[in-house]
Amino acid sequence: MNKNAFFITTPIYYVNAPCVHVGHGITTILADVRARFERLRGRDVFLSTGTDEHGSAVAKAAEKAGVTPQLFADQNATNFLATWKQFNISFDDFIRTTEQRHLQGVNTFLNALQASGYIYQGTYKGHYCTGCEAFKEPEELVDGNCPIHKTKADYLEEKNWFFKLSELAPKVKALIENNTIRIMPEGRRNEVLGFLNGEVKDVSISRETVSWGIPLPFDEKQTTYVWIEALLNYITVIGFDRDMEHYKRYWEQAERVHTLGKDIIRFHCVIWPAMLLAVGFPLPHTLFVHAFLKSEGHKMSKSLGNVVYPDELAAKFGVDGARYVLFAETPVNDDGDIKQSSLGERYNAELKNNLGNLFSRLTVLAQKAKIAELYPDTQSKESKAFAKLVSTAWKNASSAIEQFDTRAYLAAAQQPLEAVAPWRAAFVPDHPRHIRYHRAILALTTQPAFREKNHVGRPTNCNPNESYSFISWCQYKKIAQ
Ligand SMILES: [Zn+2]
Repeated sequence: MNKNAFFITTPIYYVNAPCVHVGHGITTILADVRARFERLRGRDVFLSTGTDEHGSAVAKAAEKAGVTPQLFADQNATNFLATWKQFNISFDDFIRTTEQRHLQGVNTFLNALQASGYIYQGTYKGHYCTGCEAFKEPEELVDGNCPIHKTKADYLEEKNWFFKLSELAPKVKALIENNTIRIMPEGRRNEVLGFLNGEVKDVSISRETVSWGIPLPFDEKQTTYVWIEALLNYITVIGFDRDMEHYKRYWEQAERVHTLGKDIIRFHCVIWPAMLLAVGFPLPHTLFVHAFLKSEGHKMSKSLGNVVYPDELAAKFGVDGARYVLFAETPVNDDGDIKQSSLGERYNAELKNNLGNLFSRLTVLAQKAKIAELYPDTQSKESKAFAKLVSTAWKNASSAIEQFDTRAYLAAAQQPLEAVAPWRAAFVPDHPRHIRYHRAILALTTQPAFREKNHVGRPTNCNPNESYSFISWCQYKKIAQ
């Protein structure tokens, strides 16, 4: 593995709904902050996102809207793209599953899967929820209804191609148990292992009656089950079967990390690794699965009128403020709860008062100082002490973000500030060097709120091992320009 290359993904979002929901926002901002952090470390980062556009739910929604599925997908994909641009998500590519480059990679992968001997033809008999785009076992249904969508799951009986998941499941299980595939947090890992301890059935990978999809390359009467081809976006986006050098750089040789919400855990933590195992491709190293957000103590729902949309938060707090509060609210183990009042408090207390004040004060100080004055190597006692604080903060923040623990990250990054409290009226930096350390801390702390890719303007002569000086150099340079 090339320790420097780092590939991180968000799921590709399903375009049956017209706009970005706060859950999408949480995953995407989280992945973005991690990507930015890895760039600060000087790593070769690739962040991907995109839209999932096939399947019967999209076809049905398009029919209802009176447009073709392609036009419907075009419109909604545009909305997603616009939101991520508005939120300054530093994605390196945005893939749509109706793009030719995706189709090509999917065909090649499916041919390899067929050659692997892990698929066979059979008849599917059972239930299917269009809302989930998923096959349902009888015990998963409540009075014949999908428990998530509260709608009747259709009974299907059709010829399908099947993937021998049952045969590969023990391998996947062993790899999760020995942490070759790391699932975080622990509770989600246990959930996946619990599922794998039960009887795992083979999965259907094609649909006979759905026309809005990618035809199977070896049986054109069938379309590929939407989830099977959607998962493949993680390799088609980086050039699988198109630009193999690029694909190798970010898949075969890189550290590979997926971020996702808990509703799609089985597809990502069981089926996806099994698909890769079948054809002998490298597996993801880490999958971080976050929980859901409630709103004012209730599950978000349109009928309750309590759904939170990221663009509403942006209208209220500004884009940087919305990024900051959503990042801070990331639910890890248990479902979180968004309260408008606490978001306001968080924004005012943490971002506007503390960091905002500090930032503007330091900006003025840094503008007055010259870069040479920020780099003299005089080591006062205070400087050394503060440098130590900063270096500890950096270490703690690093391990927190590696665990996707956003609260711990912010706490670690802000700790030196609390120790020194430079926003007190009486605080006067006695040495320009202090500014440098403060800026380093600020760079860490405000990662979620940053607007630009931080690696822009990275100096060639900086020492990446001395991370805090690297950050402050870049930050200072930005201001000095
Ligand atoms: Zn459902």
